[in-house]
Amino acid sequence: MSYLKHNCCCKATAIKRIEYEIVPTKCFKVIRNCSGCGTKAQYINTKRFRVNANGNKLDVWLIYQCEKCKHTFNLAIYERQKPASVPKEEYNRFLCNDEELAEEYGKSFQFFKRNKAEIDSGTVEYQFIKKQETESNDTSKQVKLIIHNPYGLKLRPEKQIAEVLGISRSNVQRLMEQEIIRTEEISLLFISIYVDKAYI
Ligand SMILES: [Zn+2]
Repeated sequence: MSYLKHNCCCKATAIKRIEYEIVPTKCFKVIRNCSGCGTKAQYINTKRFRVNANGNKLDVWLIYQCEKCKHTFNLAIYERQKPASVPKEEYNRFLCNDEELAEEYGKSFQFFKRNKAEIDSGTVEYQFIKKQETESNDTSKQVKLIIHNPYGLKLRPEKQIAEVLGISRSNVQRLMEQEIIRTEEISLLFISIYVDKAYI
């Protein structure tokens, strides 16, 4: 009985939780050796596809291009795929170089990972989207703040927290020292902290 009662009271005072997600706003640039420049260079999304239908095998690439010398390289979307397994609607969008689709691939972390292409982390543009905010009648001074980083963008945790709270990084460090911000968990894909309500 006492256990049940305890469980119930915890639920009623569950701490308020706010969740954000980091979402890229622009296509990723790729860093790779460019044979034209003879050095590492930045490649950008041309928003053009290359489609090669050969018998019953289909290849589709998204074309990236060196910013300086226009050398191109292709990122594979489909390789030696049976044409029937590619959705007709998507296939038509490849043929007409659908810009929206090219941007979708250009912001898909998985797509670059699959192609073993190195994303230029320094130039990634992103925003924080609020995904969820729970209702709570909890009277404590703190809220739980969660930041999801599903793309695994290489951003320092203090930088992420500073940007969500709209304060400087040095301020975040000071608040951590004073335990006004307490870390629960920090990983590449996920940050969970407790923070004083006054800063939300
Ligand atoms: Zn080049």
